[in-house]
Amino acid sequence: MEKICVICEEEIKADPDGWDGGHNAAPVAKGKCCGECNVTVVSVARMKQLGYSQKDAVATISEHERQLKNQAFLREWRRK
Ligand SMILES: [Zn+2]
Repeated sequence: MEKICVICEEEIKADPDGWDGGHNAAPVAKGKCCGECNVTVVSVARMKQLGYSQKDAVATISEHERQLKNQAFLREWRRK
């Protein structure tokens, strides 16, 4: 079954870490969202709920995202 993101309405594709089950879109929306929206919209909203400023939230999430991509890259590389 095709999974559709409740935020951008695109198909939910696998994340860099291989997870393709989507993400809980709360508190932004009800249902599942894609990895892209999870990072750019949902995570930022959650961190703002925790009291982070928009700027700090985005900076922290960008760093996390960068690490995830590095991990995915390393896994690919080790497979070769
Ligand atoms: Zn999305």
